[in-house]
Amino acid sequence: MHRRDCVKVAVRVRPFNKRERDAGSRCIVSLAASAITIQDPRDSQCRRSFCFDYAYWSHSGYVIQDRTGLYLPEEVGGRYADQECVFQDLGQGILENALQGYNATLLAYGQTGSGKSYSMVGYKHNKGLVPKLCERLFKAIKEIKEARQCQVFFSMLEIYNEQVVDLLSRGSRPPGGLRVREEQHRGFYVEGLRTVPCDSAAQVEQLMEQGTRTRTTAATHMNANSSRSHMLLVLQLKQIFSKESVTKQSNINLVDLAGSERQRSASSEADRLKEGTAINLSLTTLGNVISTLADMAVGRKTVHVPYRDSVLTKLLQSALGGNSRTVMIATVSPADICYEESLSTLRYSERAKHIQNRPVVNESPTERLVKELKAENARLMQRLSRLGQDGRSANDETKEIRQLLTHNELQIRTINTLWEKHLQEALRDWEQQYANITQERRLMQMHPYILNINEDAQLSGVVKLFIPAGEWDIGLSEGTPRSISIKGLGIQQRHAVLKNEQRRVTLTPLKGSKVTVNGRAVSQTSELQHLDRLILGSNCTYLYIGFPSERGANDWSRYDYDYFLSELAAAEGIHLGESSTESCQTDPSLLAVFYDYVKLMPLVAEANQMSQELKKGVEFKLEIKNLVLSDSKGNDLEKEIICKVTSKHSKQTGEGLSSSALPRDKDPFWDPVEPLLLGTAHLWLQSLAFRIPVDEQLEVLGSEGSEEAILQAKLIPCTSDGLPLGEDDILIDPSELLGRRLDIQLVVEQCFGLRWIREARNRGIQIGFSLLDSGGRVYTPAVWHHVNPALRHKVHFASLHVSQHLLDYLQSSAVLLELWGLQDGCTSLVSPLEGARVSTEGIFIIDESGMTNTIPADCIELNSSLSRLQSDLEEQKRVNNTLMKENHRLRGQLNTATNGGNSAPNRSVRPSCDAEFARSLKRFYHNMTSVRAQLESLRRRRPSESCDLLGLRLYVDEHSGLLKDFSEQLEQSVSALKHDVATIVRRKRERSGT
Ligand code: ADP
Ligand code: MG
Repeated sequence: MHRRDCVKVAVRVRPFNKRERDAGSRCIVSLAASAITIQDPRDSQCRRSFCFDYAYWSHSGYVIQDRTGLYLPEEVGGRYADQECVFQDLGQGILENALQGYNATLLAYGQTGSGKSYSMVGYKHNKGLVPKLCERLFKAIKEIKEARQCQVFFSMLEIYNEQVVDLLSRGSRPPGGLRVREEQHRGFYVEGLRTVPCDSAAQVEQLMEQGTRTRTTAATHMNANSSRSHMLLVLQLKQIFSKESVTKQSNINLVDLAGSERQRSASSEADRLKEGTAINLSLTTLGNVISTLADMAVGRKTVHVPYRDSVLTKLLQSALGGNSRTVMIATVSPADICYEESLSTLRYSERAKHIQNRPVVNESPTERLVKELKAENARLMQRLSRLGQDGRSANDETKEIRQLLTHNELQIRTINTLWEKHLQEALRDWEQQYANITQERRLMQMHPYILNINEDAQLSGVVKLFIPAGEWDIGLSEGTPRSISIKGLGIQQRHAVLKNEQRRVTLTPLKGSKVTVNGRAVSQTSELQHLDRLILGSNCTYLYIGFPSERGANDWSRYDYDYFLSELAAAEGIHLGESSTESCQTDPSLLAVFYDYVKLMPLVAEANQMSQELKKGVEFKLEIKNLVLSDSKGNDLEKEIICKVTSKHSKQTGEGLSSSALPRDKDPFWDPVEPLLLGTAHLWLQSLAFRIPVDEQLEVLGSEGSEEAILQAKLIPCTSDGLPLGEDDILIDPSELLGRRLDIQLVVEQCFGLRWIREARNRGIQIGFSLLDSGGRVYTPAVWHHVNPALRHKVHFASLHVSQHLLDYLQSSAVLLELWGLQDGCTSLVSPLEGARVSTEGIFIIDESGMTNTIPADCIELNSSLSRLQSDLEEQKRVNNTLMKENHRLRGQLNTATNGGNSAPNRSVRPSCDAEFARSLKRFYHNMTSVRAQLESLRRRRPSESCDLLGLRLYVDEHSGLLKDFSEQLEQSVSALKHDVATIVRRKRERSGT
């Protein structure tokens, strides 16, 4: 039987990063044993706990070793979980599994910057799971060498935008990436992927370095963001046990997944269409696959697991619900500002832990092939010698047999020597690379240089551009003798001049090029100092490393990408760094705003640069916007970043909310003609509780507090046919309303002094509001060209039974009236009426369920699980009923049988059992016939004589597939029989018991 094996899930909490520390962030997670609890920073009562297989506290309780930078527990046995501890739990098991011949998969999941790469790959001396795994693997191989021959192959690839890039490829990359193909017995694989034979951990590490370098340059050239790509490292281990003549093969997939954050914001919000942000299809699909498998694991029927929907899930198919032992490490930030992301990571992982796999030991077919070829040779030799003994002159036959023998020998030798040959090649390659690395080290000790700094810490410091004595052009131009070539957005052919003269290095921007040094734009020659921060073009960030004599002991790692951005933000007048450390009480939503702002800056710079280059005449600008406006309680805490887009030609403006609105992979110039939210006003409901009408002139305020218009609106208590109530109907005590019907009309009368129209007459407006936060939204018809347009829009709504809840709501809340701006070519907003209950008379019925401002996601989840449980329960009840009836019937039969007199109950049971047994045997034999037929066809199948190596491989693949089907069917038949027998025995016992 296959062994069932659940996906193991671990969670790890990293230390605060500099940004979080500077912002005085609070730690909102705590661990106890293998459970993690996360607290909502806005509501300390709201906590969620999750239980995993492992939980690692890497947040505090560590010391950093001076010399090496190694993170170690403060005290022996302390709670801090270091890299070794994580390896012992997760890596060691994978290693042992692999040595036994199982496939294994390790996935790292979490938001960008949460520590995925730290856990998987590690930084410098803090080696992560992959290098540690390699070290131990090769160590183990050395120790067991006698018993078996081990071959290790390594490959490294990246999935970006559904394209597969071979990170170890030496040739040019094919446009559109490598193809993912499917073979019946092999499953999905990447065609033409380079797999490098390795015989030491150092070799693998060097290959990883090479791959990272490819990733870095590709990312800068394509202006791509590494946090959106998945990195896959694959170790193939083949063990040949010569004595037993078996070969075991296992694939270890090590996956550093794309950051989990963007995909959620892009996929859940309505602006997914308009923003054009490429959704990370692979990550979304992975989520869907995990959900489906988790559903299946808890017994819910599912028809289809969507493996085929994305490249990543195709390649991980066997790791998820298949032949692999799988471990997932979920990494989370401890900081309050990352609450939403961390919670979503925990939820996601919670699902993953239910998935069940069925790992099996993989026997490699190659070895069997050799075995078969050897056996055939032995047979041929026998025939040959018999021919010789008989002394018959059967020249032709002898010749043929000899030919066959040589052919087989050749095949055996090819199969055996392939590994050696490839390994030698790979080692030569490695030596070459090694020479390059030594050369680079030598240069580092001779010349000043600039070092790339990437948003992804894992890719920082990978590219070094040396500045030997003399004058150098830095820019796009390649191949000229005195140039340093760089690529990236906003980089000119000749961008700047670097001069190294008399032990001084200067930088001179050339005409029209953008150069920033330590956060300030420069246009003149400036002398560079050790550790100066350079930004060339819009986002090529480098750190200047001075002459060897100028370098101190201090490490450059504190100048990370964040540092560059904070410097830029400071230049724009936005501070939230060291200066405000004393104010530890900073509001989390404010911090989040800063965090977003800083993160968006380079994107905006990029978009503007592209606009300039493509002469689109569109300008992007970041602004911080108050979300006061969208809260019916008048709270003014929430803020959000908006990106304002202005077209210089048409003076049209548009805005997008937050990071998701800034498309990165596509043309950022989406049509900026969409309705714009200009401002909002609050119409308070309190007087309705007394059935007093309201007639108000409200100020409509824009996001910066500007007055956009005056809006006249009314709230009129009325009868059910819409007639206004009179003064006699006014209540002294609102509680009189309880349980009675309440009808209200909201009238949007007129706007005055619309700034939007004053600025340009060819514009229009609409007013939008939602009915008591109930989800139904209403927009007035559009009016154009008028500064003081009359709207006279009337909406009638009613509550059939006023509850205390509604009463409280009326007394404390407001209707939020939104002023929307329309421009040329812009379609007006229509009221989406789903979610609202409307009577036949067109009256909106106030639905109490919508009164609680928003239903938290957990509740929705809970609700749906509840309804699922309920339907399960119904089903169970039904089954129970049938069973009871059946029981009843049987008992009746039994009674008649006993009352019938002389025969003992046992007798009447036996024949029926025997019949059942006969039936299952019949089924079993029937199955066996087809199994036998399969076995026969397997036996008959041989490779054709003229087969080349490729043909053989195909044959072997096919053969192993058939074998797998065969063994599965055999197993099924046997287990069906066992099951039947068990049931019969049990029933027999039960019956004889009664
Ligand atoms: P991700 O790959 O998830 O985007 P990284 O692994 O690159 O994130 O981590 C971001 C930063 O946080 C890096 O500078 C890394 O050194 C640091 N970091 C992450 N996890 C830890 C940890 N457990 N201990 C110390 N530093 C960590
Ligand atoms: Mg990473």
